[in-house]
Amino acid sequence: MKSETALSLVTRYSELTWQIKSCKNRIAIALDQCMGLDGKRLLRRNAPWDRPLDDMDDSKNEKQTHLGAWLTPEIVGYYGDVQEWETIGFEHNRECPYCFEAYLAIRERKRAKRQLASVKAAMTKITPKPEILKWTPEHCE
Ligand SMILES: [Zn+2]
Repeated sequence: MKSETALSLVTRYSELTWQIKSCKNRIAIALDQCMGLDGKRLLRRNAPWDRPLDDMDDSKNEKQTHLGAWLTPEIVGYYGDVQEWETIGFEHNRECPYCFEAYLAIRERKRAKRQLASVKAAMTKITPKPEILKWTPEHCE
């Protein structure tokens, strides 16, 4: 194994790990600004606990994002057993730019996670096989 190869793999591993963490933060910051499907999500969140805006609880309120609606499949088909996902495009950016930004960050994180898996596989491939894995049962010798 060349030391340059090992060093480049470690560098790439570190870069991708930081990229994944950065995506996680971008998703949280973007979703935090979404006004919600009814436009009251942030008002509901900031309402005083003794004077709530309506009877919607916190956990349900937090799920009322455009992104949640976009990623929920529609049940279709004659028997109601087929799920159909919406294709998310730039027209969704007009509906809610925050949820769209979160969606882009989710896609970027997915790509980075796939690349990280490739880097891990390459690291495993170039390192020598440990002795324990070379073991064979006595009756096979
Ligand atoms: Zn939104």
